[in-house]
Amino acid sequence: MLKEIFHKIEHEYNLNKENLVTLLSLENPDDLALLFSLADRCRRKYVGEDVHLRGLIEFSNYCRKNCHYCGIRRGNQKAQRYRMTKKEILITVSTAEKLGYKTVVLQSGEDTYFTIERMTDLIKEIKKQSDVALTLSIGERSNEDYQRMYQAGANRFLLRFETSNQDLYQKLHPDSNYEERMTILRRLKEIGYQVGSGIMVGIPGQTKEDLAADILKFKELELDMVGIGPYICHQNTPLVGSPNGTVEMTFKTIALTRIVTRTAYIPATTALATLSPKDGRKKALQLGANVVMPNVTPLKYQAFYDIYPAKEYSGEDAEQNYHKISKEILAMGRLISHDYGHSLMIP
Ligand code: SAH
Ligand code: SF4
Repeated sequence: MLKEIFHKIEHEYNLNKENLVTLLSLENPDDLALLFSLADRCRRKYVGEDVHLRGLIEFSNYCRKNCHYCGIRRGNQKAQRYRMTKKEILITVSTAEKLGYKTVVLQSGEDTYFTIERMTDLIKEIKKQSDVALTLSIGERSNEDYQRMYQAGANRFLLRFETSNQDLYQKLHPDSNYEERMTILRRLKEIGYQVGSGIMVGIPGQTKEDLAADILKFKELELDMVGIGPYICHQNTPLVGSPNGTVEMTFKTIALTRIVTRTAYIPATTALATLSPKDGRKKALQLGANVVMPNVTPLKYQAFYDIYPAKEYSGEDAEQNYHKISKEILAMGRLISHDYGHSLMIP
């Protein structure tokens, strides 16, 4: 049975949900080593040896939403809120560009201060001053807003669907709707964005069947990027006391996502590096991942962007972070990409 499934992977036949559940259940170290080496081979074949670095700017932690798992949800009154000024953001982008980043990611809570006028102004200024690809990760907006931000110069958009289990999605998101999120992901693609989505592994209530369905969903949505990180419990949320997702299950999900999507860009996420500081990122890059998103947010704000506790490298500035991560990648025998790192799915 297992042999047949591995045979399917080696010959690049499509895996079905049942196959994925079987593989997500693997525990034997030899089986896991085989799965991971097949995922690594697939990564090499479809996206090569380059690792793409994206400088992450967490520019505001104000949020109008109340997602149950998130430390900066509006209901967390203990969160200390901050919002970077336009000038600070522009300086940070410029610092990232000088360090060598060819992509910057602007991420925030759903902050209503950043109206469409402020966002398009910011995007245009960034594109005027810096030669970088620009990714947005700012949550749900109107279709018109997405269009205007694309026209202003944004290239990519990240919006995770978090789980494809609709009941679980509704439980975790008091002010979002699953169908609406799927519609947004399709619209973003139509507008022309390179689209990233993803999930948390081990969110309370999630099963292996759900994870298998998530992986098939990545493929169905033809995503350019897929972010997969473990759920990490934050104590000032309704999920206080729940167990974290595991590093092992996150590895399996990343490996299978590589095998199923083949060309998607997959980051070794900061959440994974947080649960496995010694070698989580390195291992992820050796079983399917090909992107790292080092934090370039000014140090004085980093600790407040408290989506989950003890984010890795809070305490290191953009430059230290860049050098540490580049060194790690080169030591693995991989290359650091010096182009924009646009999606391979673009015709
Ligand atoms: N507000 C935007 C971007 C910031 S949140 C948005 O929601 O899209 C970015 C991601 O952080 C979320 O998609 C979620 O997958 C992840 N996240 C939030 N809380 C987390 C937690 N407790 N553990 C792990 N990841 C978490
Ligand atoms: Fe806000 Fe995003 Fe956190 Fe939800 S996950 S509460 S939208 S920052």
